[in-house]
Amino acid sequence: MHEFPLFGASIATASGYIPAGTCSLCGRSGSDRLRLGTGTDVIHTCGGCKREFAVPANKHEGVSVKCPGCAAAAPIRPLGDRPATCVPCLRNGRAAFTKDTEYGMVRWEGAIHGVTHGAPGLRAAGPGLALTDPNGEGWVGVMIPTTVLLELVRTPTYVTWQGDQWLFCCAAAMVYIGEWSQAEFISRAPSDPQACFLEVVEGAEPWMWGRVPKQIQPNSEWGFYIFTCYTCGRVRGHFDMT
Ligand SMILES: [Zn+2]
Ligand SMILES: [Zn+2]
Ligand SMILES: [Zn+2]
Repeated sequence: MHEFPLFGASIATASGYIPAGTCSLCGRSGSDRLRLGTGTDVIHTCGGCKREFAVPANKHEGVSVKCPGCAAAAPIRPLGDRPATCVPCLRNGRAAFTKDTEYGMVRWEGAIHGVTHGAPGLRAAGPGLALTDPNGEGWVGVMIPTTVLLELVRTPTYVTWQGDQWLFCCAAAMVYIGEWSQAEFISRAPSDPQACFLEVVEGAEPWMWGRVPKQIQPNSEWGFYIFTCYTCGRVRGHFDMT
């Protein structure tokens, strides 16, 4: 079993899932690892000033890096071939997975400052969420508590065709519950599953109901990615295609 409050689907469906082997961070072997590749950070704590800082996994080379707080050299160990983190190391904050969200990219660095990277000209976020002032390029971020954003980067990323887009509700990240087929919409709304589909999946049009697979199968041409809010129970989703 894994313990991810924001990932309600099977961990085996997560992006970069590797079943068994050695964790590049703690050296322990076990099942359920997640690849440390592009878009992932390894988190270090400076031995001198105790500040935490992120080193991108794909730049985790050499023997030391400079602490951004006190400039002391902090030792780093190469991650080896096929670097991966075990679940406990991810949960303990030794690694962070960058997320793309409806409010822009969230990296570890943004998470500790309680802000998303945002998007150009973003006008509004959900209730309870404030926007940053536009930066020089007109990008507007969304201020979200650090606890929420750190939890999000300590969560696996789901597999999509066109990129993940984590959704929010009640001023918090929603729980990803997996891809839905027609069967899940039918069981949620037996009398009118198509209306349920149009309500849940943002931007969906009536003809797309016929593109929803009857049952979940690997590599469907269309993906319908569904989230639920643990506060109000709302269900929302987005879709993409090959
Ligand atoms: Zn580990
Ligand atoms: Zn330091
Ligand atoms: Zn909600």
